[in-house]
Amino acid sequence: MAPVARAYAAGGGAESMKLMLLGAPGAGKGTQAKMLMDRLRIPQISTGDMLRGAVAQQTAMGLEAKRYMDAGELVPDEVVIGIVRDRLAEPDCAKGFILDGFPRTVVQAEALETFAALDRVLDVQVSEERIVSRLSGRRTCRACGAIYHVVNSPPSVDGVCDQCGGVVYQRSDDNEASIRERLEQYRAKTAPLVAWYADKGLLASVDGDADPEDVQATILDLLGVSDQS
Ligand code: ADP
Ligand code: ZN
Repeated sequence: MAPVARAYAAGGGAESMKLMLLGAPGAGKGTQAKMLMDRLRIPQISTGDMLRGAVAQQTAMGLEAKRYMDAGELVPDEVVIGIVRDRLAEPDCAKGFILDGFPRTVVQAEALETFAALDRVLDVQVSEERIVSRLSGRRTCRACGAIYHVVNSPPSVDGVCDQCGGVVYQRSDDNEASIRERLEQYRAKTAPLVAWYADKGLLASVDGDADPEDVQATILDLLGVSDQS
């Protein structure tokens, strides 16, 4: 597929980079979104991180959301749509953003169209065996959301985030029953977005089985951004 727009290749002076990462849980969307945020200097908008923030703050919305999240189910559309609408209205999103984990249903995608126009959707594809091993070994920083894996990429000091010194823990939904349910929800509710965005000419597929650095290089290439800092 052709590079999105020449403006991206200019790096700092890019005009609009409204991106969305699509893919199953454990496909590496969060890892790629964080790398893109550093490289492109646009914010990562992760509905999972925002919902976990609300859970930690014990807001009414957080308490409601936690029940769905622990069960591996989707939080109701109107809740996440409201969160994303508010977040995208903030000034740091004006020139671009990386949506990570939203939209996850056609209803969410239709709502998004009423308040933002995406430039490109990247579908990160990973085999199911790999997804289960990634999620069951995943560890996450409670403070900054940095992602680790017990075998593939542990923090240098056990339980301590390399990035911020925060506590690295296992998410309550990274257990086998919840992982199975999340994959089921993905198949039923989110996977239809692949065809939905392909029809709109926005979709590009990326092989997510490779190492994170290689996946990132593929994405930057697709976006027409040179792979140097
Ligand atoms: P993963 O991609 O590993 O499943 P996320 O952090 O993206 O993890 O999401 C964790 C949970 O948060 C989901 O299982 C779901 O309950 C909830 N969630 C996140 N984003 C959405 C969304 N767009 N719509 C509904 N629920 C969501
Ligand atoms: Zn951290």
